[in-house]
Amino acid sequence: MTDNCPNCPQQHVEPVAAVERRDQVSHLYRCPACGVTWSTNRDLRAYGEAA
Ligand SMILES: [Zn+2]
Repeated sequence: MTDNCPNCPQQHVEPVAAVERRDQVSHLYRCPACGVTWSTNRDLRAYGEAA
């Protein structure tokens, strides 16, 4: 799932990597416009993907 750059107006940035662990998933992003990198942790239970 895409995210918005925290450093510039770029939106819908595709993740370059995803790491799942237990009931969380970490997505790593790199903005194609300004080059900043960031990561986002999401709780899979919020998306109904965990048992
Ligand atoms: Zn950016």
